[in-house]
Amino acid sequence: MSGGRSPLGEFDLIDRYFRQAQADSGSRPDVLLGIGDDAAVLRIPDADLVAAVDTVVAGRHFLPDCDARSVGHRALAVNLSDMAAMGATPAWATLALTLPALDEAWLERFSLGFMTLAKEHGVALVGGDTTGGPLTVSVQILGFVARGRALRRGGAQAGDVLMVTGTLGDSGAGLALTSGKLMTAERAAAAELIQRFDYPTPRVQFGLRARDIAHAAMDISDGLAGDLPKLAAASGLAAWVDVAKLPLSAAIRAVVPVAQAREWAVAAGDDYELLLAVSPEEADRLTDAARQLNLTLTAIGELRRGNGVTWELEGAAFAAPAEGYDHFR
Ligand code: ADP
Ligand code: MG
Repeated sequence: MSGGRSPLGEFDLIDRYFRQAQADSGSRPDVLLGIGDDAAVLRIPDADLVAAVDTVVAGRHFLPDCDARSVGHRALAVNLSDMAAMGATPAWATLALTLPALDEAWLERFSLGFMTLAKEHGVALVGGDTTGGPLTVSVQILGFVARGRALRRGGAQAGDVLMVTGTLGDSGAGLALTSGKLMTAERAAAAELIQRFDYPTPRVQFGLRARDIAHAAMDISDGLAGDLPKLAAASGLAAWVDVAKLPLSAAIRAVVPVAQAREWAVAAGDDYELLLAVSPEEADRLTDAARQLNLTLTAIGELRRGNGVTWELEGAAFAAPAEGYDHFR
């Protein structure tokens, strides 16, 4: 990076907030060479390598003035969520950071959010790139899964039960609260919903358990209405959803009427829960696997022959948006 006016140079910055922070949060024996050389050298196990990359952009994925700790958390969380959806074990990450300025206070918070989550999941930051420009954070994640065992979107079968982890719509409510579009006197509920938006929890452990039970999975990043059609299409099937069954948190019920909560559960993004298809015979086993992780798992519908998604509420058709968030529409 060039043109930085801060007394802290690019190399000191990388060293302090990424190389040193990574060293402090522990090392993985399979990282033969991490931050500091021209590239990382990683020893891969006898497994299938699973790779994903996700970018978060200021003003698109997070509010420009939000706490950088949340930006660091989210940038990694969205990638961990992709690993969860594949039933993969995350191992290594690289970080491409584009910054308008070398703001130490910002970097410290960012690094804290990123590294805390990385440590929790045993992920090593092994490299990256730092450039000047509009605030953008791109993370690539690498993980692995036993040969041929990755959980795909396209494996669902007609008659499978559709299930989701956790609760839906909380991030949508959190965004409305944090951006001032929604006001409430319910302070505790509001804080919980904003926390859900700022610090999404990737369901990595559950993804690993689900790998040998579910037929198909994906993570819900763009909202159920945006993502479910992708799983159904990949599996060559139709999906039917009972909107009354969508799991709603006590917090969201405390701040808005149930009709609004359902709207967010269907259409709002950023929840990073998992959507799974499982045979009816295996649904209880999957629910038990979730319960062991203190995670709720809810049956919301089923997969059927045909195509498209049908949304039903109390016996009538429910008007869900036709698609999820699309950056270019
Ligand atoms: P090069 O010019 O060879 O790409 P850089 O100066 O860009 O080298 O990076 C030096 C080292 O620091 C490399 O090991 C690179 O992976 C690492 N690095 C740079 N930026 C970051 C970052 N934001 N996070 C983690 N590692 C980084
Ligand atoms: Mg570079």
